[in-house]
Amino acid sequence: MTVIIVSVSVSGLYTLTSDKVREELTRDADMAMYVFDTVYTGEYWAEDADSDGELEMYKGAQRINGEDTIIDDLAKQLEIDISIFYKDVRLLTTLKDSDGNRAIGTSSSVVVKNDVLKTGESKFYSNVLVYDTKSYAFYKPIRDENGEISGMIAVSRSQESVKQEMLWYTMPIFIVCLATAFLIGYIMVYFHRKLAERIEKMDNYMNTLSNGEFDIEMPRELGLYDDEIKRLSNSGKKMARSIKTLVEFDALTELNNRRFADKKLEEIRIRSVEQGLRYCVCISDIDFFKKVNDTYGHEMGDEVLRRVAAKLKLGMVGKGIAARWGGEEFLLIFENRELDIARRELSIIMDDVRTIWIPDTDRQITMSFGLTALEPGESIDEVLQRADSNLYEAKENGRNQIICK
Ligand code: GH3
Ligand code: MG
Ligand code: MG
Repeated sequence: MTVIIVSVSVSGLYTLTSDKVREELTRDADMAMYVFDTVYTGEYWAEDADSDGELEMYKGAQRINGEDTIIDDLAKQLEIDISIFYKDVRLLTTLKDSDGNRAIGTSSSVVVKNDVLKTGESKFYSNVLVYDTKSYAFYKPIRDENGEISGMIAVSRSQESVKQEMLWYTMPIFIVCLATAFLIGYIMVYFHRKLAERIEKMDNYMNTLSNGEFDIEMPRELGLYDDEIKRLSNSGKKMARSIKTLVEFDALTELNNRRFADKKLEEIRIRSVEQGLRYCVCISDIDFFKKVNDTYGHEMGDEVLRRVAAKLKLGMVGKGIAARWGGEEFLLIFENRELDIARRELSIIMDDVRTIWIPDTDRQITMSFGLTALEPGESIDEVLQRADSNLYEAKENGRNQIICK
């Protein structure tokens, strides 16, 4: 792409330069003719009167070769070389060789002779050798009063000088373009790197979610711009939330499920050992629940489960968690509490459960609770067995009570 742009630009610049030089040289040739016509009146003619083999050139009555001040000044002002030919012989010129000798007496090329002298047309050359220098040149025939071609005027500029001038004009544009290209390049690299970083962060975030760590915060960078990365990350987050609900919650009661409770138990076991924190665990069970089902139907059974769950959840706010342990059994974890405090809090919860009545009946809901403290260093199985046997004892003792050991 860059190669195409550069090629097109260079060829465009070349055409533009060539057109501009053609215009300038045409104007300069007219100007030079005008100056000569103004300074010297009459026709151009030449003869070798002294027979030294070198033609003397005249315009009207005045000899014009040998006196180079006018042509030199003109050429200097216009920054070009000027030659006046009699027929095809250069008799007045600003062109010089390396020793400073003027190119007087040299002939024009055969091509120029054919193009200009024979056809009588002006001609512009964009790449021609003028006295051994690659040049832009404009040749214009000179006609006498009868319309006969008596010679030519040639104005030329070396390609080198045109190139220098062009360089002078185009350098600032080139520098601006280059600076812009660098800036664009830098911006592209910057944004590309930012994008790559965000994609990597999104990848890590998704991997963490798919490893089951649903509580991880979405990195701030992923939500910075309203783009695909933000949308994908948000979908990942939503999906994680749905999976978390499926995996960690019980659909009927909306309490945490047994899987979550198991995880939580393992966490508190570790914390009790590492940080010396005190935890209490309680297994609770609705009394005579089978009868509720049998008497009022399974639907009513479900409703009772929901109401009991709501009471337990509310009762455990700020104390720990309530989870559905299975069927009509619930697990309560009291965090950072000694057993006597947990017992007091639990009896308030028990009282609250007693306020549940089966609608339009005299049937009260009660629960039995087996409460115990987690001893540092003991296993979860051990603490659960103790809580379970306390619950069994509560059932044996007539239900609707707490056994705490
Ligand atoms: P106890 O006082 O000794 O605990 O007696 P119980 O009748 O509560 O105990 P049991 O274990 O005999 O009966 C529990 C019943 O709970 C049996 C089962 O059908 C019912 N159950 C378990 N899960 C659900 C549920 O999700 N919805 C409903 N409606 N009933 C359930
Ligand atoms: Mg039971
Ligand atoms: Mg029961």
